[in-house]
Amino acid sequence: MTIAVYPGSFDPITNGHTDILKRASALFDHLIVAVYDRPEKNLLFSVDERVELASQAAKDIPNVSVQSFTGLVVDFIHHVKADVMIRGLRANSDFEWEFEMALMNRSLAPDIEIVCLMTSPKYQFIRSSVIKEVARLGGCLDEMVPEHVSEALRTKYADYIREVEKRLGAQYNTPTTRTK
Ligand code: ADP
Repeated sequence: MTIAVYPGSFDPITNGHTDILKRASALFDHLIVAVYDRPEKNLLFSVDERVELASQAAKDIPNVSVQSFTGLVVDFIHHVKADVMIRGLRANSDFEWEFEMALMNRSLAPDIEIVCLMTSPKYQFIRSSVIKEVARLGGCLDEMVPEHVSEALRTKYADYIREVEKRLGAQYNTPTTRTK
């Protein structure tokens, strides 16, 4: 039985991530989505929230499970007795970083194979940081994140969005002053 681990921050999980996890789950017997508990990173959702959002996104795929991990990803992969690490690649911007990380992880754990899946073209521009920025400004995220993630983002940013709407409303509703 071949077990693969798909690690990441998933803050929050997007349709780009779910595309990769669906495709990877078809290649291996079991896929573990590993949510990195990285306290020093400036994350919007807590690790429990990120695990919950990812679990809901993967609930219909029987051979996928979700759990959090701390520390080195290669240690986690050994701990769960997996053989493969999955990474997703967007445009060339991801390549250098993923290549360096792959070489580092390979020198730490030569027994773990790293498999990179290319993004699907329609998800190529999706990254969690941009998703959060659009959500913060009240933009529509249909087709970019699952519905429950969109709701979770709306809830997180509700106060902020109300404030932005108030300011935009004031800006656009101000009657134009005309001079003769
Ligand atoms: P990010 O903030 O870049 O989404 P993550 O740590 O959550 O970062 O990403 C986990 C993995 O998923 C990484 O290998 C990343 O390159 C990949 N990934 C993220 N978004 C996409 C996407 N839209 N298409 C393909 N792979 C992606």
